[in-house]
Formats: sequence, structure tokens, C-alpha cells
Amino acid sequence: MENFVFQIDKNGVPLGMLHPAKARKLQNKGKAATFRQYPYVLIRSIAITDPTNEAYILKIDPGSKWTGFAIQCGSNIVFRMELKHRGSIISDELTKRAGFRRGRRERNTRYRKKRFDRSKPKDWLAPSLRHRLKTVETWIAKFCRWCPIVAIEIEQVRFDTQKLDNPEISGIEYQQGALQGYEVREYLLEKWGRQCVYCGATDTRLEIEHIKPKSRGGSNRVGNLTLACHSCNQKKGSQEVKDFLSGKPDLLSRILKKAPQPLKDASAVNSTRYAIAKMAKRYSDTVKCWTGGRTKFNRCSQGIEKSHSADAACVGESGANIRMLVTRALLVESKGHGSRQVRRCNSSGFPALNKQGQPIKPKAVYTHCSSGDIVKFKLDKDRKAVKAGTYTARVKTPTPKGFEVKLNGFRVSSAMESLVRFVHRNDGYSYEF
Ligand SMILES: [Zn+2]
Repeated sequence: MENFVFQIDKNGVPLGMLHPAKARKLQNKGKAATFRQYPYVLIRSIAITDPTNEAYILKIDPGSKWTGFAIQCGSNIVFRMELKHRGSIISDELTKRAGFRRGRRERNTRYRKKRFDRSKPKDWLAPSLRHRLKTVETWIAKFCRWCPIVAIEIEQVRFDTQKLDNPEISGIEYQQGALQGYEVREYLLEKWGRQCVYCGATDTRLEIEHIKPKSRGGSNRVGNLTLACHSCNQKKGSQEVKDFLSGKPDLLSRILKKAPQPLKDASAVNSTRYAIAKMAKRYSDTVKCWTGGRTKFNRCSQGIEKSHSADAACVGESGANIRMLVTRALLVESKGHGSRQVRRCNSSGFPALNKQGQPIKPKAVYTHCSSGDIVKFKLDKDRKAVKAGTYTARVKTPTPKGFEVKLNGFRVSSAMESLVRFVHRNDGYSYEF
């Protein structure tokens, strides 16, 4: 089923979320109107003084490329969204800019000693990471505006650093299928670098491996565990590790040395996730932080397929018993707001020129529509691979008379007259189901 829709009253006070069919009924009766298309927000025509709202929990699974969002009401998941970040694009562009600047400064200037202390403040985040924090903040703020959120739950760390404090020494035991087992697994993934310890394979399912085999008295203690791919695990069988690795003494000594050493706390700490949890406290009094081990345990024990929004739904204690009412998540991609560069650069950092030798002008601004707007329009006749008909698409380039969109991989230009309606004004994201 589709996502439930958000609902606000005449004065913008958030009300409980609605089943899409109920929302359609309200709209057909003229009691509500569309406030916003993506995600769908309904505005009621009256002020509602004493709304009887249920408690909604916003759940977040922050990742490096994708962040999953889910909204839970009771045990029902009523909203799912997956947000794609553009951290790598930002990082690439800043590296390019730094190169141009360095080139310009050093081309005709001798070396000069540094005159300022340019060290970074303590809580400094790289621009690509700050972007992640800021986009997540934007969405938290939006959800709080449209929905009476009472708590925010975040997957903050991969495994429980408190419970697993010095697991090799304190004697945490591995038990398959138990919550503790999932925490141990995440811990081992982090400790052994997410790869098969014997052959270095990374893109395969890793199994928990006993360095000293259980059949020879090896324990379930974390210090005796590592990760191996299926074939290495089978090959080793019940051999002693020194027999199995008799041909690779370097690897053997490295494994034996690393096994009893506890993972340093710092490696479990992810600065962006911490910053996100800290930021969330400004939006809700109740912010709960959970571990990735628990998320995975919840997801696997309920047989839910892996996706970013499903992971978000499974975060924390409240994710232990959920009903997934929504089958498809809203996919959102961060697109930025274009470039503000006055002079575009070519690949060598010099002003980019067009065929006539004139500088390429910055992004043109038209009042009727701008790139990133989502529009519904009519094509009167077939063009290239695109048939005539009505389409909804995101404007790629506005032109003096209309706009260009990409359909089936082809650029199609359209005049303003063919526009049926604006669906959504550009807000720096593209949306799809
Ligand atoms: Zn292997």
C-alpha cells in the first residue's frame, strides 16, 4: 500500500496521519485540499481545536549514501521514505575547486610560509558529512511540522559499546539468533574490517568462524571468533588454525595477535550519526538511540526484507513487533540547488568559453518555471522515442519559452502552453515511488 498522508488543519497545526482512501474522501467532499504533493500533505478547511492524536514515532537509520525514515503509530508502520545523499558529489566538486585555487595561487607565486592557524574546530564535520546532517535535519523538521511526533528513535551505533565493553575480557558469549549474537556479529564485522579473514573476500556472506574449533575445545567467547566466507569456513572445518594456515605464517601471526585485542571504542563511534542524534534533541524531548545489531535482529526475526526504510522501521525496542502497512517507500534524492558560479570553469580551471569564444553565462533565471520543478504537461505529437500524451516529469532546463525534461532518456522540450499544472515546486530534491 501507499504511504499514509500527512494532515494539517487550517492554521497549520499537525493532525494524525490518514489512510489515502480517507484523504480522497475528505477531498471529494471539499473538506480538504492538497497542501503539498511529495510527500503528500493534506490541509483541512477548518481549524481543529482539540485533535485526538495518536502517538507517532519517527525512526531513522542514517547511512553514508542513504538514510531510511519510517513513521510508526502503535505497532503500525504508516510511512516510509528513503533519502539519497549527494556527499560524494559535494566532495568531488570541492576537491576540484581546491585544485583550481591551488593552481591559480601557485602558478606565479613563490612558496610562502603559513601565517594563520587553520586547524579545524573540534566538532567540525567535512562538508559532505555536514550535508548529510543538514538534509536529515531538514526532513526531521518537515515531519515535525506535518505530524504530531512524540519521539525520535535513531540507529546511532553499529553495536552496543556499553554491553560489549572489552568483550574479549568480560566474556561475552556468542549465541546464534539471540539479540546478543547480532551485536557480536556487528562487532566482529567492525573489528575484522568486513572481509573474510583468510582470503580477503568482501562481497560475500560472511560466517562466524571459531579460530580454535569448537570440536577441539574452542569457546564461544568473542576473542575466539572471527569472520570467514563460506568456502574458507568449509575448507578449514575442524582444523587448528595453525594447520590451516601453515603456508601463510604472516597471516597466522596477524590473526592470533589481533583476536584477543578488544576493538578500540573510537572505531564504533561514527561522528555523523552522533551529530544527527544530538541535532534530533532540538526537535523532540524524547530521542532514543539504538544499535545496528538490534535493528538487524528485529528485521531478521520478523522476516522483513532489507531496505533502508525497513531498517529504519526495525530500529529499537519498538521495532521488535511491527506491522508493515506500507509496501513501497517514497524515494527522495538530494539534488542540490544548482551552481552559483558566475563564471563556469573548464577542466583546467580557466573560464569556460562557448563556440563563439564568449564566456558561458551562469544559470538563467526564468520566472515561469525553474529547473527542479515537477510539472504535468501534454505532448501533442510523437518525438523521437517519446509518444504523444500526458507526462509528469522534473524540469531539467527552463528555456525562455518553456522547459526541457528528460523522458525515456531523451531530452524533450515543451512550450509553456502545453503545461497542465505545476505538481511540485523545486525544493532541492527529486521524488519517485
Ligand atoms: Zn574466504
